[in-house]
Amino acid sequence: MVITEVRIKLMEDNNERLQAFCSVTFDDAFVVRDLKIIEGTKGSFVAMPSRKLTDRCPGCGCKNHLRARFCNLCGGRLDEDRATRDQDGRAKLHADIAHPINSACREVIQSAVLKSFNEEKERSKQPGYVCRYDDYDAGDYDESYTSLVGELARGGGGGEFRAHGPHNNRGTHEAKSPYATSQERRGDGFGAGIL
Ligand SMILES: [Zn+2]
Repeated sequence: MVITEVRIKLMEDNNERLQAFCSVTFDDAFVVRDLKIIEGTKGSFVAMPSRKLTDRCPGCGCKNHLRARFCNLCGGRLDEDRATRDQDGRAKLHADIAHPINSACREVIQSAVLKSFNEEKERSKQPGYVCRYDDYDAGDYDESYTSLVGELARGGGGGEFRAHGPHNNRGTHEAKSPYATSQERRGDGFGAGIL
């Protein structure tokens, strides 16, 4: 596997720890978008694309973000503090969509991305600089990124490696109905497989 292209979208300086978005192309054939470069306590690190975790309202079964205080559908009160926590007490609100499964692969991706990031910062100082990252959802920087970046930065990008087990027991990859509502397709429930 060879990384054949990295595209970087630098963030304005005012965005605290989120330094850039990027996409990575493998073997001139497969692109993963929405990786993030985050300034951690021990330098910049690369965060994999991730989604907000959801759970179902006990009253009506509608999916809600784990920090939601009221159900989106029935308005029922929800426990704001229901997210599972890691051993350090940090709430687990996001899950990676795509990620390396060993440290060697993580290192390959991270070093390629950070190298391109540094080159992009230099390029951005030149006149006529154009960002090559395809920004399909410009302006979508919302509170979910703030919480995500906080969650990741506190972790320091320490490289958490999960075995690929969940893909075998089918427990976390629930097949989505093609008749999912438009709200499910584009809203907080997008791609959510956690029951
Ligand atoms: Zn509800």
